[in-house]
Amino acid sequence: MSLSTRLRDVCRVALGRPFERREIRMGTIVTQRVWGANAEAAADEVSRELEHLERALSFHSPESDLSRFNANAGRGWTPVSADLLRVLERARACSELTGGSFDVTAAPLVRLWNIHGGEPGRRGRPIPPKCEIERLLPLVDNRDLRVDVHAGSASLARPGQMVDLGAIAKGYAADRAREIYVESGVRSAVVDIGGNVALVGRGPGGLPWRVGIQHPAERQGGLIATLAASDESVVTSGDYERFVESGGARYHHIIDPATGYPARSGLTSATVVCGDSTLADALATAIFVLGPERGAQLVDSFPGIGAVLITDESTRRVYVTDGLRDRFTLLDKRYAIHEI
Ligand code: FAD
Ligand code: MG
Repeated sequence: MSLSTRLRDVCRVALGRPFERREIRMGTIVTQRVWGANAEAAADEVSRELEHLERALSFHSPESDLSRFNANAGRGWTPVSADLLRVLERARACSELTGGSFDVTAAPLVRLWNIHGGEPGRRGRPIPPKCEIERLLPLVDNRDLRVDVHAGSASLARPGQMVDLGAIAKGYAADRAREIYVESGVRSAVVDIGGNVALVGRGPGGLPWRVGIQHPAERQGGLIATLAASDESVVTSGDYERFVESGGARYHHIIDPATGYPARSGLTSATVVCGDSTLADALATAIFVLGPERGAQLVDSFPGIGAVLITDESTRRVYVTDGLRDRFTLLDKRYAIHEI
């Protein structure tokens, strides 16, 4: 499995060698690189936290807190664990802020399409019938998710409704990892949770890190561009890793909640740069659904947040929001930077 965003540190000399760990969590590859005296202990603690979060937040495990919450849909308030409560509240707010293009209640459709099974590019699989999509579409409505942060409980209004945190929980996990590094006294660290890259401090020589954005058309982890970043998160959503092909068409894992079908906005990847990895994760998914124009408007409504949007191979355009232009280097000259 390749990562949708990779980090390259140009020179390791000034910081010394990092402690490195690579493991599978949350159905994806997690890479930690941590520098300094407490590096190994901090990385251990992050690993334990990721394991804990996976147990609480997984849509894939019937034993998770999330699955128990989903099983109670339509039956009133359910007490939930502290982490699930926090992520549900963030997800509810992000669904509202993005006008429902990120919709945490898209789960019935996500389950129907079933394009998260870790078999990228499966061919010839039948796609769901239109009548099934139309039957499930009315269940998708984030206004039906209520979260009572004081009581520690949440509810879904109707039976059959479900929450899936696949588009936001890796961001939350990256934020938790960053908190752990900082509490452990680590001054330089990078964690990549399947395309959710969170950075602590600066890179070698006190310079910003250079974060690579995966080339959407190259399978072997080639980069299309790099971004200079420090003490923030760089999060990418794309259609090139999790998809199936049927009848000559490609169907990927990001669903447009307005149609019930995989989003066709003309984008092949959306990268968000932001201090808050949870928000960046939700926004990257939302922008992917909205497309270049409406996606850029959404980014502009958040001060201090930037985005890089890449269109598919038929147009090969790259849009970079104002605040990121000086930090962005395009590597593949077949693509052209355009004004939005
Ligand atoms: P993102 O754009 O960030 O998210 C896309 C995912 O969000 C979709 O896969 C779907 O689940 C959901 N989604 C789709 N459309 C929307 C929408 N419009 N609004 C909101 N959500 C949407 N995968 C496995 O194969 N096996 C596992 O065991 C497994 N365990 C996981 C455990 C946890 C706690 C989490 C968070 C994820 C897990 N995954 C697992 C999921 C896998 O890592 C996802 O494919 C990944 O979260 C998708 O992330 P992304 O960055 O590719 O895309
Ligand atoms: Mg996301």
